[in-house]
Amino acid sequence: MERFYTALNRFDAYLLLHRLQHAGIRAHVFNEHVSSIVGEVPPDIAQPQVWLVNERDRPRAEAVLAALARERGQSGGNVFCRSCHEENPANFELCWHCGASL
Ligand SMILES: [Zn+2]
Repeated sequence: MERFYTALNRFDAYLLLHRLQHAGIRAHVFNEHVSSIVGEVPPDIAQPQVWLVNERDRPRAEAVLAALARERGQSGGNVFCRSCHEENPANFELCWHCGASL
């Protein structure tokens, strides 16, 4: 296991997690439930983190992250997932929360 990415929030962490899984990369999110204690612990500990199961997946994971960053640059509105009803940016192809196709 190796830390790959420190997310801004759960949305950010799960979005990346589902993209990684979609690309066949095994990963986990840690610290997802600690937002209530932000302010009492250092941000690096309080923020959700995405960890890769296999270090050798890192180059592909970085490509996934770069693609995600490009998509974020071109936003416009939001859509709601038909499976779990979470809100997603309109340009996403997969729900950040459940991974369903939008
Ligand atoms: Zn969903």
